[in-house]
Amino acid sequence: MITRSPAPLQRHDEAEEPAIATTGTAALTTTADTTAITHVDVPTDSEHTAPLSLPPAWQAQLSGAIRDPRELCRRLGLDERWLPGAEAGHSLFEVRVPEAFLARMRPGDPGDPLLRQVLPLGEETQPTPGYVADPLEEAAHTPAKGLIHKYHGRVLLITSPACAVNCRYCFRRHFPYAENSPSMAQWDASLDTLRNDPSITEAILSGGDPLATSDRRLAWLSERLEAIPHLKRLRIHTRLPVVIPERIDAELLGWLGATRLQKVVVLHINHANEIDESVIAACRRLSDAGVTLLNQSVLLRGVNDTVETLAALSERLFEAGVLPYYLHVLDPVTGAAHFDVPDDEARELVAGLRGVLPGFLMPRLVREIPGKASKTPL
Ligand SMILES: *Cc1c(COP(=O)(O)O)cnc(C)c1O
Ligand code: SF4
Repeated sequence: MITRSPAPLQRHDEAEEPAIATTGTAALTTTADTTAITHVDVPTDSEHTAPLSLPPAWQAQLSGAIRDPRELCRRLGLDERWLPGAEAGHSLFEVRVPEAFLARMRPGDPGDPLLRQVLPLGEETQPTPGYVADPLEEAAHTPAKGLIHKYHGRVLLITSPACAVNCRYCFRRHFPYAENSPSMAQWDASLDTLRNDPSITEAILSGGDPLATSDRRLAWLSERLEAIPHLKRLRIHTRLPVVIPERIDAELLGWLGATRLQKVVVLHINHANEIDESVIAACRRLSDAGVTLLNQSVLLRGVNDTVETLAALSERLFEAGVLPYYLHVLDPVTGAAHFDVPDDEARELVAGLRGVLPGFLMPRLVREIPGKASKTPL
């Protein structure tokens, strides 16, 4: 089995930062940063410059996330018997839970739908027939470093190797990020794939979580993307506004609001309890910046496998100004079999959902089948 331990976030960001330290303390303001970017024609990722200003608040939350299975169990008041499983799972795919997400869980409840998404279990170590390391066969679709091009018109950019939260069911839990994390200079070369193919109209920042990367790096990338004339849309697939809502700060809104590209943010929320007032406020900041907000969920045993739970999720999403987009059935990734909901049951759930929700709050039930030109409706 391939395992990975995600790169330490801070070190990664510092190492790959474009060299714009010349802006000094003024770099905290958007205007100064945008100006600074124009001076960075040839960013050198080797240059290691000490930050002259305080890192943004969200980065402290990111580096302060819980990464110890023992601490996770202790903080939620879980029984000792959960520990061996948590440690076994953690050794395959490390625990990572930001405080802001932890705060929405019910202490003492091992069945809490948010906790279930992040608590490693002993089951993860059991091999299951049909469950593999790369269920989507993404490794076969990387035309250039950091890119995945499977569907017509849109290209996925693996913008960050890390996530703010590690979801146990993640289909990329074994993704070889180390081989697919381009430096800034390598990005420029990879972007030639987009520049040279006029059929590509949408760039999708994905990961990991693209927003785990610094705004300097994202602004740099966004500028290069908007300079490609045939690109129309910038899409961002992220869970960060949910797990660390402070991530949607003035700096991010600065570069995002400035681009000529149409902007879509696809969130990843699986349960209504994930959406508290701080998440609603983050969503509002994004929509005020001209972003269309959608959500994708994964159908997960013990998390959102009832009609009531899914209906409550759609309703709550709409309260946050977000429309449901996809409901994915689980990708058969090694270590996640205990989350599976069989297809027939998934179809029944969605039929039940249709009975209680308006059409515009219905997510599309899909599966990703390797080799297909789109997601496949169930
Ligand atoms: C899911 C996915 C997309 C986006 O598909 P949409 O149906 O447009 O949301 C693009 N590229 C890859 C490789 C994907 O897996
Ligand atoms: S945030 Fe997304 S990419 Fe990251 S671990 Fe969770 S499911 Fe995987």
